[in-house]
This record gives sequence, structure tokens and C-alpha cells, in this order.
Amino acid sequence: MTAPFLSLDAITRRFEPRLILGDRIAARLGARVENRPVRAVTEVSLEIAKGETLGLVGESGCGKSTLGRVVAGILPPTSGTVLIDGKPVIEHGRKVTTRVQTVFQDPYASLDPRMRIGDIVAEGPIAHGLASKADAPGYVRDWLSRVGLDPDFAGRYPHQFSGGQRQRVAIARALAMQPDLLVCDEPVASLDVSIQAQIINLFLELRRELGITCLFISHDLRVVRHVSDRVAIMYLGRIVEIGATEAIYRDPQHPYTRALLGSVPKLVLEDDELVRFETISGEIPSPLAPPPGCTFHPRCPVAVEACRREVPVLFDDSDGRMVACHVRAMERAAMTKEGSA
Ligand code: SF4
Repeated sequence: MTAPFLSLDAITRRFEPRLILGDRIAARLGARVENRPVRAVTEVSLEIAKGETLGLVGESGCGKSTLGRVVAGILPPTSGTVLIDGKPVIEHGRKVTTRVQTVFQDPYASLDPRMRIGDIVAEGPIAHGLASKADAPGYVRDWLSRVGLDPDFAGRYPHQFSGGQRQRVAIARALAMQPDLLVCDEPVASLDVSIQAQIINLFLELRRELGITCLFISHDLRVVRHVSDRVAIMYLGRIVEIGATEAIYRDPQHPYTRALLGSVPKLVLEDDELVRFETISGEIPSPLAPPPGCTFHPRCPVAVEACRREVPVLFDDSDGRMVACHVRAMERAAMTKEGSA
């Protein structure tokens, strides 16, 4: 990998249960809950090179959207730093750069229904001096046409558009800020499959044209494989495996990655009859009470005693791939020993 453009150093983000549950529920559950913060993200360090797309995948509730919001400067980390080109994204709890922009899952919720889309796209660039009020109409028309929308639609309101068109507006709004890094959080999850393909193709075209760096968050493994140069697998707030996309999809090393890739819906047939869909056993544990040691151990088919006691740390497995697993670390050590014998 070339020099990092985005660097995350030991990012941890906790939430107080009182803020998540609301005062009344927290009070009913008592001091036990109030005193136990939820760790949504724990000690995540990673880097993204300029122009690279890193896919971030994991089950719902694994912390990937929280991490995306920290990278985008929307949520300050509880500890750790996010740097773009060596400069902080957040200082004193506030976002201090426009170099990161975000595209969210639900374009309808993220677009103000009372504003015309031309004003939605123009608002940020005018506020940050990227376009003057006089130039804004032309600037907006240019961005609308770059995302495949008729520039004459600038006077319409969000409810006058389809879901796919609204996501194009959201992309235009983000890119009109001329960001260096785009955080896409489940950008196609709420769209019909046929529209998903159009938006993904638009994303790929714009990325090629603008050379933009991207953190692409999704639970959809097929979409992530299609758009990402590298992929990071997240489980209960930690990165458990990270490396080149094709290497991970062809030969996953962490037991969770294997289980996740193995659970992409596919039929298990016997004598041409549907027997079952393959699934990951068990459920993702509550971040309020994560298991000790490796948090995947209650679901892991190859767990050993050390897994119940010690948190595995990421180690360099091979070819730049990092894996956090005791058993894989033992296998790798045995292979190295054999090779040097
Ligand atoms: Fe399984 Fe242990 Fe590896 Fe965790 S550390 S994934 S429990 S083998």
C-alpha cells in the first residue's frame, strides 16, 4: 500500500446507555446498566491510501456505521485520532474540515423535504466559499448533470423524485463540496436491486473521474466485492481481518470472515431438493455485555481455551493481510517454523 491518506489510530467510541435507552428506561434498569458504557467501536486502527476504496463489512450492530460517522467527523471518538493527510478531522469534539463528506442509506431522510434540490446542493458550497451565490445555479446544474439528473430539476423538491434519483441528489450534494474522502454508509441498501446497480455504476464512474478516496460501508458482501480495493471485516466493534478484496474473498483466514462469506444466501441442495440455507450459528452478542477474550468465541467452531481469556490482536498474516485470531496465529507460526526448518 502507498502512503496513507486517511489514518485511524486506536479509535474507540463508547455510548452511555442513558443516551441510547433514554432516561426512563435506563432508570428502570437501574445503576447496573447506567454504569456500563456500550463500546460500539474498540481500538480500531487502519489506513486508506489516496484514491483507494476500503470496504467495511459486518453484521448489523457490529459498529461499522459508528466508525463511519467517526471518520466523517459527525461523531467524536471517545479516544483515538482520525487524520486526513496528517490533519485532524475533529478538534475539541467538532468537525474541522470539509474534506470528508457522507452519503447515507436513506436519501429521503437526509434531504430536507422543505428545500428545493438546487438549494440543497448549493447550500454547503456557498457556505464554504466553493461557489458564490451568483455562480451557484450554474454550479448546481453542473453537479446535477454529472450525477445523471436533468439540471432543470433543480427547482423540484425531494418528494418529487424516486429513491434512486434522491440518492443521486445526495451524491451530488456530497461531491459538490469537493471532498477528498467520501464515506458511503449503506448507500444502496434502501433501493430496489435494479436501481442499486445504476447507483453503484455511477459511484464507480465518479470515483474514476474524480480520483476520490472512499470508505464504503455495507452489509452486502457482493456490493463490497464489486467496489472495494481492500476490505475490512468488523465484528462487535473490532476489525478482525483486513486485506486485498480478492485475496480475502478467495481465501478468508479469520473464522468469522469464513462464516460471513459462507452465509451469503445460497441453496444447499440434496438430490435437487432444497435442504436449507447456510447460516452463521448463534447471534451477535450484545455490546452491553460482550463475551471475554475473543468476542466471536461463543460462535466460533475452532475456538480454543485462549480464545475465552485473551483478546486477539491483529497480526501480519501474509501479503499485507492482517488477521486477529489466536488459532490462525498459531497456524502461521507453525508454517513459519516448518519453512525455516
Ligand atoms: Fe475463533 Fe479463537 Fe480465532 Fe476468535 S481467536 S476467531 S474464537 S479461533
